[in-house]
Amino acid sequence: MLLVTGRRRVLSYVVRPRIDAAEAAQIAAFAGAAGVVDARRRGTSPRLVFVPYYRLCAEEAFWRRERVSRPPRAVDLEPGDLGEQLVRIVTGGARAREAEHALTLASRTIERSFLARDAGGLASWSLGVRSGVLRLELFERGAIEVQGLVLRPTLDAGTALARLLEPLAEVASVHREVLRALLSLIYFPLWTVATGSGPAARVTVLDAVTGSVVARDADPAPLSGDGLGADATSPVDRVLGFRPLCCPNCGWDLPVRPADVVFHCTSCERTWELAGEDLEPIVSDVVANAAAPPRARRGPRAAATPAATVGEVAHLVAHLPVWQVSGDFTVTGGATTPRTPLPSRLVAPAFRWRALKVLSDLGARLARSGEQARGTQPQVEMEPVKDMPLVGCSLDRTDAVTMARLVALRMLMDDPNVRDAAARGKGVPRVDLERAETRLLWLPFAGDAYSLRDPLTGYALPRRAVQDAIS
Ligand SMILES: [Zn+2]
Repeated sequence: MLLVTGRRRVLSYVVRPRIDAAEAAQIAAFAGAAGVVDARRRGTSPRLVFVPYYRLCAEEAFWRRERVSRPPRAVDLEPGDLGEQLVRIVTGGARAREAEHALTLASRTIERSFLARDAGGLASWSLGVRSGVLRLELFERGAIEVQGLVLRPTLDAGTALARLLEPLAEVASVHREVLRALLSLIYFPLWTVATGSGPAARVTVLDAVTGSVVARDADPAPLSGDGLGADATSPVDRVLGFRPLCCPNCGWDLPVRPADVVFHCTSCERTWELAGEDLEPIVSDVVANAAAPPRARRGPRAAATPAATVGEVAHLVAHLPVWQVSGDFTVTGGATTPRTPLPSRLVAPAFRWRALKVLSDLGARLARSGEQARGTQPQVEMEPVKDMPLVGCSLDRTDAVTMARLVALRMLMDDPNVRDAAARGKGVPRVDLERAETRLLWLPFAGDAYSLRDPLTGYALPRRAVQDAIS
């Protein structure tokens, strides 16, 4: 099995055309473009042009202020007959109905794209929602250049990334973090069909995937610029690498999951992080099955689900990866000083999960329990475990620090004063981390029929979702 390398580099992909030259000429003629037939008679065949787009895929977590209206309570109602009261409730006329602000942590995946060069209006500005459903192939310059002209991006990747990372105005967030950001270049095919003749040559431009007309009888200059070949030193024309996905130490096959960035060799117990074209060795520990946590340390959430009864086999189901992140944390800003300081070691859950809020909640609970356990209890026993499935790790060390800061803010928001002040728009604390040190742990989650629980706090995750993450 081959692994596409180039993590945190700008990788190039191409979209294959689905319309051929003859179809393109037909469509252009049908669309009423003048002179298409003449052009065909003269032997001017439609020309394929590949236009570059930058695309960002990422996950965005944000704290959002929401106006919430408190429903009227019985004490708000004035005496009167029941019918009048009901009318007041329904019409919102009840007294003392005040608007309040609540703060919620939400997340979503983002996928954005825009043109990597000026195309003079002859290409759509963005790939829109389509780039998620378009079939992308790895860009191989030689194979693409024989098909048509490959236009070179003129905007540099750093500028493109900064622009794509800008928050969208639609979400009024008070704090935002971006995880798992991947920037890529996508070369999208357009057909240019010559129309008219003479020095004032015009083209009709078609989307080579859908066949829709992008521009009619337009000046072809913006799409006839310098191709990639004109500048062999173009820094964004990165040739993709492949490497066999096997352990660099012992050659054992590593598990293949597209979202993984860290790979653990179950044969020689070494762990590798994908960085650029290489697998770099990192330290990780697989934690042996810890004793069940005492009841008292379980939180309200765990208590809400039925706990395993004595004698029932809570068999081990999976190891889930978390990063321990330590270093110098500083908290600045915010309207009030948080009552509880941050623990010296934060925990950033690193398995892929749709809602980052769940990972933040779990991280907060693990960090608190780790803090409580320190000094009073022996450290969790570490021991190599060979036969347990390891859930993939989708956060690298850089993202682990970002996730740790998200968890830190989530912990600070547990303080009602901090949260209330932030909800009222009086400032959100800012968490900075210097001299960050990271260490990867795989924690054993014990399962029952419906859920998996972490060994330290009993935080429950739906079992089915975890199973999806294993396969
Ligand atoms: Zn190995």
